Amino acid sequence: MAQTVQVEAYANHVNGGGGMAEIFPIGFDPAAVVLELPPVAVADEANETKQRIGEREIVLGRNVHTTCLEVTEPEANDEFTGDKEAHMAGILARYRKNLIERTKHHLGYPYNLDFDYGALGQLQHFSINNLGDPFIESNYGVHSRQFEVGVLDWFARLWEIEKNNYWGYITNCGTEGNLHGILVGREVFPDGILYASCESHYSIFKAARMYRMECEKVDTLMSGEIDCADFKAKLLANKDKPAIINVNIGTTVKGAVDDLDLVIKTLEENGFKHDRFYIHCDGALFGLMMPFVKRAPKVSFKKPIGSVSVSGHKFVGCPMPCGVQITRMEHINALSRNVEYLASRDATIMGSRNGHAPIFLWYTLNRKGYKGFQKEVQKCLRNAHYLKDRLLDAGISAMLNELSSTVVFERPQDEEFVRRWQLACQGNIAHVVVMPSVTIDKLNDFLNELVEKRSTWYQAGKDQPPCVAADLGSENCACALHK
Ligand SMILES: *Cc1c(COP(=O)(O)O)cnc(C)c1O
Repeated sequence: MAQTVQVEAYANHVNGGGGMAEIFPIGFDPAAVVLELPPVAVADEANETKQRIGEREIVLGRNVHTTCLEVTEPEANDEFTGDKEAHMAGILARYRKNLIERTKHHLGYPYNLDFDYGALGQLQHFSINNLGDPFIESNYGVHSRQFEVGVLDWFARLWEIEKNNYWGYITNCGTEGNLHGILVGREVFPDGILYASCESHYSIFKAARMYRMECEKVDTLMSGEIDCADFKAKLLANKDKPAIINVNIGTTVKGAVDDLDLVIKTLEENGFKHDRFYIHCDGALFGLMMPFVKRAPKVSFKKPIGSVSVSGHKFVGCPMPCGVQITRMEHINALSRNVEYLASRDATIMGSRNGHAPIFLWYTLNRKGYKGFQKEVQKCLRNAHYLKDRLLDAGISAMLNELSSTVVFERPQDEEFVRRWQLACQGNIAHVVVMPSVTIDKLNDFLNELVEKRSTWYQAGKDQPPCVAADLGSENCACALHK
């Protein structure tokens, strides 16, 4: 009641020209609102940017409009009839069914879709936000920093850095970790040159463009690993500038793991002392798998590395995109600023940060633990070998890197098949990333369907399977020429 009275008094002031008149310009009514949505804007066809990617034509900003769910304005009497509620419930139910079906046929992207977070449903009703620094509380109290720091401590232990010596945060995705790691590198070495293998994730080159950094693309071996001979040549050509290096712990397409120890050795042998280089490890894909593989080069802060990042929604299996980024405390001071408005410190890329993600990570780390992840990694590697062997048995070109669960093979000819199994393709190759949710049963369904379809694509006299020798090496190619 008191509030209503106040509002009325306020309106009187404004409209009646009382004591407030000098604050608002004449004719301004702060209670007036725009009543209608503006009409739909019509695009200028001539300005469309068209691009062809593979078989599909991509029209920037356009492709999805034909299937989108229009937002409709509520009718005046909707509140009474409930018609709209029922309509929306129907849309959501159909959408849910579609998600279940699409989850069943997913193989191409490295997402673990096998999880049960039912216990966390009760937290959906809160706007949890960890804005600012994880280690300094802001004045916003609905946060989950206690979970976030617990998760960070777990990763710090995994990557062998003391609690007091690291700084990190839970990011919105693997890309944000890369953007942060490269930024820390550039703040440490403002005139440094960024080195990254040409098979690095596109976010690394995006970072170079965003930060206007000089960037040297280094060649790769057939496996997809960084070619340290070419790395050496490029280092020697730029000896006068410090080096900022992105090392891949799992490349996006071939799942190749760069040899961290050889990268460090190459730097040291060519005159780059530890105070002249910064290494960021992009572990988005396999950052949480490699620690469990015996022969894999160990990612550890006992080595001269500056930062490591990993995605939380890939192997770990978080239902929303997220990631973890960890760097050395000494580096973060070069980057951070105090912000009075937050009563916190600004050292993250994003401002507001998803406070639900740390709880999901905390929950899954607690449930699975080190041993649980170890078992899942073993299962993934075994299943990946199974898939590669079965493909080769069927006369289909395929490759699997030793330390990887990414099976690369000839691109299926039919785009419909590619979409059905949600395969990621590049040129003549496609891949399946074997995550814990990819079971032998699912692989068998996929293999049977592929073999059957293939026999129709490549009937005698019709098309030939593509040659993939340039992508996978002639020893892995089963085309007419190389088999
Ligand atoms: C997926 C991936 C990224 C980016 O991670 P997002 O979480 O999708 O932003 C970066 N690097 C590599 C090697 C990846 O596989």
